[in-house]
Amino acid sequence: MAKVPRDVVVVVDEAYLEFTTDEAVPDALSFYREHPNVVVLRTFSKAYGLAGLRVGYAVAQEEVATALRKAATPFGVTDLAQQAAIASLAARDELMVRVEQLVAERERVHAALVEQGWDVPAAQGNFVWLPLGEDAVPFAQACQARALTVRPFAGEGVRCSIGETEANDRLLGIAGEWLHSRE
Ligand SMILES: *Cc1c(COP(=O)(O)O)cnc(C)c1O
Repeated sequence: MAKVPRDVVVVVDEAYLEFTTDEAVPDALSFYREHPNVVVLRTFSKAYGLAGLRVGYAVAQEEVATALRKAATPFGVTDLAQQAAIASLAARDELMVRVEQLVAERERVHAALVEQGWDVPAAQGNFVWLPLGEDAVPFAQACQARALTVRPFAGEGVRCSIGETEANDRLLGIAGEWLHSRE
């Protein structure tokens, strides 16, 4: 940030903030306080579970916020979405319990995949990434055949959301078999 010119806006997307446990991950709000050209984005779609309501917010200097308002769709956030967002802020403790459970499952799944022999990057969001390359789509199809939905990025890999323990176990089963079938 020290090297970025002051008239260049830097956007920090914190969609997965609540799931982040790595102490080394910087705090975007403190960046924002030190550097007025920083904009912080947050969403209620992930940890708050309100993806269907499409509500989030930006933290920005007034000048930037004014420009954003001009470009944003008018009334883009419905009244219902605002009410739900406020209500979910009030339920933060319950929410954090859910987030902790998800993080624990994420760590379990990550460790099991490493144990199986997968080269999975460290996970700080609500998903794990399997770098399957050309096997991304066939792997996703194998998951679908077992009633498990994952998101393939053709030629790159598969994004697997952490879900219920049973679903995570199913993912581990398919991932383990996949490696064996390629041996
Ligand atoms: C989910 C997500 C968002 C926010 O999505 P909305 O549902 O539009 O609020 C932003 N960035 C990333 C990387 C995400 O995964």
